[in-house]
Amino acid sequence: MSAGMTTKNGEAFDRVSLESLMRRRLFYTPSFEIYPGNPKGLFDYGPAGCGLQANIVDLWRKHFVLEENMLEVDCAILTPHYVLKTSGHVDKFADWMIKDPKSGEFYRADHLVEEVLEDRLKGDKEARGVKPTAEEGEQKRKKKVKDTKAVKLDDAVVTEIEEVLAKIDNYNGEQLGQLITKYDIRSPRTGDVLPPPEPFNLMFSTNIGPSAALPGYLRPETAQGQFLTFSKLLEFNNQAMPFASASIGKSFRNEISPRSGLLRVREFLMAEIEHFVDPEGGKKHPRFDEVRNIELELLNREVQLAGKTDVERVSIGKAVEQKIVDNETLGYFLARIHLFLQKLGVDAKKVRFRQHMQNEMAHYAADCWDAELLTSYGWIECVGCADRSAYDLTVHAKATGQPLCVRETRKEPLRIEEWQVDIEKKKFGPKFKKDAKTVEAAIEGLTQDVLEKLSLDLKSEGKVSVDVNGVGNGTVELEKDLIAIEKRTRVENTREYTPNVIEPSFGIGRILYSLIEHSYWTRPGSDARCVLSFPPTIAPTKVLLVPLSTHPDFAPLVRRISHRLRVLGVSNRVDDSSATIGKRYARNDELGTPFGITVDFQSVKDGSLTLRERDSMKQVRAGEEEICQAVQRMSEGVEAWEEVAGRLPAFEKQELE
Ligand code: AMP
Repeated sequence: MSAGMTTKNGEAFDRVSLESLMRRRLFYTPSFEIYPGNPKGLFDYGPAGCGLQANIVDLWRKHFVLEENMLEVDCAILTPHYVLKTSGHVDKFADWMIKDPKSGEFYRADHLVEEVLEDRLKGDKEARGVKPTAEEGEQKRKKKVKDTKAVKLDDAVVTEIEEVLAKIDNYNGEQLGQLITKYDIRSPRTGDVLPPPEPFNLMFSTNIGPSAALPGYLRPETAQGQFLTFSKLLEFNNQAMPFASASIGKSFRNEISPRSGLLRVREFLMAEIEHFVDPEGGKKHPRFDEVRNIELELLNREVQLAGKTDVERVSIGKAVEQKIVDNETLGYFLARIHLFLQKLGVDAKKVRFRQHMQNEMAHYAADCWDAELLTSYGWIECVGCADRSAYDLTVHAKATGQPLCVRETRKEPLRIEEWQVDIEKKKFGPKFKKDAKTVEAAIEGLTQDVLEKLSLDLKSEGKVSVDVNGVGNGTVELEKDLIAIEKRTRVENTREYTPNVIEPSFGIGRILYSLIEHSYWTRPGSDARCVLSFPPTIAPTKVLLVPLSTHPDFAPLVRRISHRLRVLGVSNRVDDSSATIGKRYARNDELGTPFGITVDFQSVKDGSLTLRERDSMKQVRAGEEEICQAVQRMSEGVEAWEEVAGRLPAFEKQELE
């Protein structure tokens, strides 16, 4: 769905041109490309892509890890089978797949249904003579989209399909199979009827070590490593709660049918936070007040289940109060994610937070919201923010026998009134002999309600009957010389609990690609020139140094400025080719370089330099020191271009084409 996507200057978004730019300027390209039939869903980043990614990760670290003193870890990627069996990934980390028996093609069932139904809606629009958007028209004209059949549908069918699409993520395999039958969705290749969807596990399996004795997987998320180091981190943190761990690293998913460029790949950089919180007291967050008034665009579960996609703009404070978002900690992170995306430079109008529907949630999640960014591929989940409850720590503790919990001294000792059982061991053992342990275990397993009732029986009849599986006829009688049941007060000085986990999980590649789309536009003119308007803090290179010509007098000055900027920590490149200054700047606008410094004959004479800003193409002129410092301040986000342009003299000369 790219309908209606426009760039920041209102023109129709042209993905084909953007993709060609990505390739030409080596942001990223498909891996192993010179081999025919190279696998899909794997990409190599070039210098511009690496620079951009490094700056996104750097901002992430500053915004989350540094800001909140998170404990960063870097855990193993190769993960033994038993870990992922325990976590539930071996059994449940799967998508629904359909194999076309004739063509051998594999489809992700939900994607196939979505694509076919969207096509039908498009065909219906065409048949009704609804004018295509500027972009749709342009794409059709350039033959960049496949033709849809213009078939008019009943109004009721259109509404029904729109409802199905609004909750497409909520269907399980069986329901997807029913939709395929109901809407007669066939193989796109052969037109044949398709078999029902079956689950396909997304993990890449391998063996750890030379034998096959220890099967393992490439991790599908960084989270499990963080959970398994929980106790060590808690100790490192002096047992203080709440705290968060964080990790940045590659994860791997064997996507059924990777597509959409960087958006669905088989190997990707993830940045994940596991925030451990006490489940008692409503999962409050100590810094919630700082974000309470931040407004977010929320698309909640109920709206989607009603077949709609309307968002509600609401402050996170209100959303938590009204229980739209379950708790403060989850709300706190949604707001922090929003601030992070803003700092990155994504278009605020193309961000929304969508709540997962019940069936859509991962097997471990209690509530989940995705930060979605609007791209030419539609709304894309770029950050998942899940409340994983105590799921992971509980299952790993059970599997290993290791306590993954918090023990803390209570401020006030807890006094608990409860029914307790005393067994007269001297008589009990000889009476039940080999069954004594089984009977004792059955007594220990009795609930407080049952014990209360038994205490009355014991008083009135002098004996009680207890069900014990596998002993005698399944019931044993206990006389009052064997057992006493009394109500007593127990005092607890320590409290033990398994923390809940709130997990914001960022796909860096998806964020990077969406940011590129949001930053992309073309400068009007005869030879429309592409520009990537990254904020200076995020741009891979901050400054282009451009000597007016190849005259040898410029070289020493250019070298000196370049060195000076490097010392200030400002990345820069020199373009001393013989192309015109305008062309050289245009080449760098494509890389998103926000500033350019021109060195001319006047510079050689008096050290003054021209500084040009990418988006406005406005220029100022000042001495070397002032210009270098201004660039440094803007690259660090301390000062905006408008401020610099306000305090340094403007330079009006046109760029030389
Ligand atoms: P999940 O654990 O499925 O919620 O994924 C967490 C984040 O990882 C998502 O929000 C995406 O940004 C990213 N992600 C998941 N799968 C892929 C993929 N196949 N390709 C690229 N990014 C992905």
